[in-house]
Amino acid sequence: MARILLVEDEAPLARAIAASLRTAGYAVDVADDGESGLEMALDEPFALITLDVGLPDMSGFDVLRTLRARGLATPVLILTARDTVDDRVTGLDLGADDYLLKPFEVSELLARIRALLRRSVGQASSVVEVGALAMDLGRASATVNGRTLDLRRREWAVLERLVAKAGKVVPKERLLSEIFSYDEVVAPNAIEVYIARLRRKLEPDGPAIRTIRGLGYMLDAD
Ligand code: CA
Repeated sequence: MARILLVEDEAPLARAIAASLRTAGYAVDVADDGESGLEMALDEPFALITLDVGLPDMSGFDVLRTLRARGLATPVLILTARDTVDDRVTGLDLGADDYLLKPFEVSELLARIRALLRRSVGQASSVVEVGALAMDLGRASATVNGRTLDLRRREWAVLERLVAKAGKVVPKERLLSEIFSYDEVVAPNAIEVYIARLRRKLEPDGPAIRTIRGLGYMLDAD
């Protein structure tokens, strides 16, 4: 089931929304300020983010601006008590996918979330399979023989690229450039670290990631 990040500082409201989402079958993580929301959104592969505008440390708009500047395309649903045209325009201009005014009915929130997830998945099946590995791109979940892999965002990104080119060599420089933005300081062995973690997580029955010396990495297609 889809994993959702809820960025909301009002604890009782966050608890209530999280409980409703879990009852509806979603996996939910809660961040109670902008800083931790940013960190979690950039670290973990969420299928959708619901974002409060009035946060204690920064505006939800700032969170959204930063996420989009870092290349994160995850659908964002803005939740706000403010009802001005300016706010709505700002949110949508910054790359929000939808907008919901507080107070709202949980049934409406769930309907909007379903619509956004459907839209991000598209019409076609978004599940890609390589051997025993299945990656559901719309739901940001990966399984090996039905066992769910616990992947961080960057591990997910590396695996997604290897899966897209299964059976072919993916150059290391290519992985680096696709996964990190220009302004990020990257350790020289960053990709090796992600590959090592992915191998551990794919074992024992998932497809093997081969190191092609001097060239890059290849996910076994058979
Ligand atoms: Ca708030």
